[in-house]
Amino acid sequence: MTQPQRIVILTGAGVSAESGLGTFRDAGGLWAQYDLEDVATPEGFARDPGLVHAFYNARRENCLAAAPNAAHRALARLQAAWPDHVTLITQNIDDLHERAGASAVVHMHGELLRARCAACGACWDAPVRMDPGDACPACGARATRPDVVWFGEIPRHMERIEAALERAELFVSIGTSGTVYPAAGFVALARAAGARCLELNLEPSATAAGFDEARQGPASALVPAWVETLLG
Ligand code: NAD
Repeated sequence: MTQPQRIVILTGAGVSAESGLGTFRDAGGLWAQYDLEDVATPEGFARDPGLVHAFYNARRENCLAAAPNAAHRALARLQAAWPDHVTLITQNIDDLHERAGASAVVHMHGELLRARCAACGACWDAPVRMDPGDACPACGARATRPDVVWFGEIPRHMERIEAALERAELFVSIGTSGTVYPAAGFVALARAAGARCLELNLEPSATAAGFDEARQGPASALVPAWVETLLG
């Protein structure tokens, strides 16, 4: 086995695509049936909370029916082998990294399986189906929402993420299109900090030119192969 390196991994929708959870770009998928402005912005939620809950209820059901794939499992294996050296950040709101065995996953866009009260800030495990009429278990307000980060809201854990990027020796971006900021800017931060940067994606992302190396293929093949070369 080679010496552990300080690795920061960023995953996006592409790592869960082969588990049956659609990416933004999948034709005919859940995202294609809705307008982003309607279902993934605070303004959309204020206009029609029932529509937004219906969208996330459908995503939650899909998530619960899905299973982790070989890419999630390989990342969990790497983290278990080098526990103090691997920071796993995801833009995904599913829990497939955790179900594959990963821990301390940094969910920068929140979690589909958690609910939050917009009135008092309390958080709890989301029921499979949420409804605008649900009362907050802490304060009773009918202001419950999925605990996810919408467009126009501030991603979570940014201080911790930036600190990890500044110390990274290797930055690896997996299954993300490089179009949603701030995550799309992580490669530039990692490069500036002196990290080697590797992209694993089905096709070159919008930021592929910023990486030292970009490999194309399905995550379920590329990720286990990459982990195997590290761990042997
Ligand atoms: P995206 O849809 O913009 O891009 C996905 C990328 O994955 C594309 O570049 C595509 O070529 C690649 N890809 C598709 N199938 C792949 C596969 N089998 N193997 C490897 N790569 C594959 O997704 P993104 O960059 O994560 O976009 C950011 C936003 O999408 C985030 O806000 C995220 O929360 C949201 N999102 C999350 C989920 C989820 O939680 N599972 C699903 C859809 C969208």
